Amino acid sequence: MNLEIKNLSKTYANGVKALQDVSLSIGKGMFGLLGQNGAGKSTLMRTIATLQDGDSGSITFNGIDVLKQPEELRKVLGYLPQEFGVYPNVSAEELLLHIADMKGIVNKNERKEIVSELLNRVNLYDVRKKHLDGYSGGMKQRFGIAQALMGNPQLIIVDEPTAGLDPMERNRFYNLLSEIGENTVVILSTHIVEDVSTLCNDMAIIGNGKVLMKGKPDEIEEALQGKVFELPIEKSELPEYEEKYKVISQRFYMGRMMITVVADDFPSGEFSGKAPTLEDAYFNLLFDQKKAELV
Ligand code: ADP
Repeated sequence: MNLEIKNLSKTYANGVKALQDVSLSIGKGMFGLLGQNGAGKSTLMRTIATLQDGDSGSITFNGIDVLKQPEELRKVLGYLPQEFGVYPNVSAEELLLHIADMKGIVNKNERKEIVSELLNRVNLYDVRKKHLDGYSGGMKQRFGIAQALMGNPQLIIVDEPTAGLDPMERNRFYNLLSEIGENTVVILSTHIVEDVSTLCNDMAIIGNGKVLMKGKPDEIEEALQGKVFELPIEKSELPEYEEKYKVISQRFYMGRMMITVVADDFPSGEFSGKAPTLEDAYFNLLFDQKKAELV
């Protein structure tokens, strides 16, 4: 089971180069596509989901030419878009039954059985009669997953699924997604590093429509081993440190500012070494990208 994206490019009519020569090979399991707002994630997700075309390049999934045979891909696709428009005056159960009907599950009993199973799976069975507009953000996202899972898809795309969820809802959603990843290709697009570090066994970072880095999260972290340092400073000292060091991020720590610095060698005695995290790798990459843009 494999999704192969080769040299995919897309320029919008307004001249924005949303995808530039994107190539990715994605196998079974959870794949994280990490990038800032505007990086091109939704454009890529929508193109894989056959909702829009690329200008050049190819996408294949298990022998299906996605851009040429969109109807074939749709048979095996589950998609949770970034904006999932819900029908306000319909219950979750009613809407899922309707979707099952549209997916061609004609037998009424079979439809009911499938819908009950899905509702149980996403933990919404007890609230199945409730109208969707009364659902919390987390419940709506779980409903979104239920509809995406209809018909046992082999490829599941979830676009920015945890934005706006509170920590508990996010956790529940993580549990649900990690179960799904076992037998399918799941692509999760997000700007939240934690989504990827918690869930994904493979990933890519995109920026300005380009793949900036790809690999396994632990390999990406490992590449920075011995190169990340931190130091608590006063906020007013930040410009001074930024001048001298590659300060990739800062956060407040017990009333002071903790800066994280990337350097090949130990910067100076006052710093302490730190185990690199995926967030460090991501910020380091964004730092380099920003610098390259300024040149
Ligand atoms: P992301 O999902 O990572 O936030 P998008 O794929 O939505 O990124 O957008 C990538 C770039 O393409 C952005 O600069 C965005 O403004 C632009 N863009 C997205 N959709 C359109 C469109 N329909 N027409 C013109 N520009 C677009």
